[in-house]
Amino acid sequence: MRITDDRIAAIGDFQPKRGEEVLDAKGLVLAPGFIDIHNHSEEGLDRDPLATTQIAQGITTVLLGADGGSPWPIGSWLDARRRSPAALNLAVAVGHATVRAQVMQKDFRRVARPTEVAAMAKLVGQGMSEGAFGLSSGLEYDVASYSSTDEMVAVAAAAAKRGGFYMTHVRDEADRSFEALSEEIAIGQRARIPVQHSHIKLGTVSVWGKASEYVRVIEDARRGGLDFLADCYPYDAWYSTIKVLVPDKQYESPPSVKEALAAVGGAGNITIANFAANKRYEQQTIEQLAQSEHIDPIEMFIRIIREGNAANDDALIIAKSMTDADIELFYKQPWVMVASDGGIDGQHPRGAGTFPRVLGRFVREKHWFTLPEAIRKMTSMPAQRLGLRDRGTLRKGTYADLVLFDPETVIDRATFAQPQELPVGIKAVFVNGVKVWSEDRTTGAKPGRVLTH
Ligand SMILES: [Zn+2]
Repeated sequence: MRITDDRIAAIGDFQPKRGEEVLDAKGLVLAPGFIDIHNHSEEGLDRDPLATTQIAQGITTVLLGADGGSPWPIGSWLDARRRSPAALNLAVAVGHATVRAQVMQKDFRRVARPTEVAAMAKLVGQGMSEGAFGLSSGLEYDVASYSSTDEMVAVAAAAAKRGGFYMTHVRDEADRSFEALSEEIAIGQRARIPVQHSHIKLGTVSVWGKASEYVRVIEDARRGGLDFLADCYPYDAWYSTIKVLVPDKQYESPPSVKEALAAVGGAGNITIANFAANKRYEQQTIEQLAQSEHIDPIEMFIRIIREGNAANDDALIIAKSMTDADIELFYKQPWVMVASDGGIDGQHPRGAGTFPRVLGRFVREKHWFTLPEAIRKMTSMPAQRLGLRDRGTLRKGTYADLVLFDPETVIDRATFAQPQELPVGIKAVFVNGVKVWSEDRTTGAKPGRVLTH
């Protein structure tokens, strides 16, 4: 392959021209750069525009603005990113919670009035016209959790009108997973919009082992004509706010908390990852904290909630809550792609480990699927969802976003204790024809571009 400027100029057998740099890739795999369709590096890019933990995995393009929260206004934020480019390409979705908060301000704990929904839809249209690729939602989170299905249909339709897609963290990934899935499918069908199911999972004891049933519901919808794709991160634990654990929102009610703890298999399966209000709790499980404070885990949980409320800053937790068998079944579906749900500075190892982990553990060690299929799940499938015609595949004339890796050694090293640990086996990464990763370090180049819809 020959790279000229920012593009792939030729693929095949040919002699290098005088003065051309030649890279020996013997024994290595050259793939399109990985496209991460669910990435939370919005703020991280300010601190680390070289995006070390992302580039080191082979990620060359990220879609930001996931889970309903996006920068706003889209246009001026993208302009700012153009003025201070990063090592990788970035694109953005407009967040439903973001526009909902714009319209309803602090009075969001209710169903929106028709005029408010219309105002939200208008803002979604504005975000799309300023370059967003679609609409994201996070219906499990506070601001969006009060929205009705009708509201979601209206805002999704506004994105559909401008050729966008709807990516969603559904209303429930726990006991009511199937209800939430039905709502998601209904939104896609009624708004006539392609659906991207974010971080597909079955997160509580009562739905563990039901992946085949979940897949069947989705396949029915696909057969019925809905353009439905999903992404999955390769870990059996999630990372979110502590309040997500309690679906009825009775965070200080002992029976509700008891149920919440049981749903993830007990307080020992919940680790406090980040808690600005009380750093002392970080890296410990609720069970450990309860023991050292000599109180019941339920009481401990409520104490963490109260301390968070007082500081207006909820604890972020890691909850072990998925089965390997469900993850495997999801990943084997041809409509499930790889995405990290992580980002620069993430406290979850997926932020620095996702792509090499899939290649090393799921492909090489467990043989869940082939290497070409894994690469498709990391490149052309997300590119197709984003409508990127000139990235995500290796063809003459497309942008030279490339990753060169060793299929025999590539693997993640990030853990919950060391979430920033870089992977091994990624030999070189190019973004728009410029080398950004080589010999286990960033080159310092920032050739990334802002991509718009
Ligand atoms: Zn999410």
